[in-house]
Amino acid sequence: MTIEMTAKTPSLPAIARLKELSGESVKLCMQCATCTGMCPMAQEMDISPRRVMHLAQFGLLDRLSGVNSYWKCASCHACSVKCPRGIDIARVMEALRQQVLRKSRNHIEPSALPRETVAEMPQIALVAGFRKFTS
Ligand code: SF4
Ligand code: SF4
Repeated sequence: MTIEMTAKTPSLPAIARLKELSGESVKLCMQCATCTGMCPMAQEMDISPRRVMHLAQFGLLDRLSGVNSYWKCASCHACSVKCPRGIDIARVMEALRQQVLRKSRNHIEPSALPRETVAEMPQIALVAGFRKFTS
């Protein structure tokens, strides 16, 4: 299952597919921004977790295409444990990454990594990075 991110208007099918992929109902979000306040990566993101949820709950996935927020997400679950609506936001972020990777589009190309970077990085970081960023 992939999520199309080409819709220019609110898309109910896109919301349904996101729920199928993540197991979460983004429609429950009440835009309190607790997730953004908890997020250690929010400053690095193009748009905040709250804004990601806002666009997702209206099915405006085209506006999420190309933003770095779900790639910057560290899957720390700090947002998820504090969300007053019980939404596992980390799983939504993972679903947004998956919709790109399932189209066989890598977020990073391993072969493009500088040899020095590969030599310096801990092996566990490389493996974790490849799992997260490559299809
Ligand atoms: S913490 Fe939960 S309810 Fe509040 S904005 Fe984030 S996802 Fe929505
Ligand atoms: S799981 Fe991702 S979005 Fe949520 S607080 Fe951690 S880094 Fe931020």
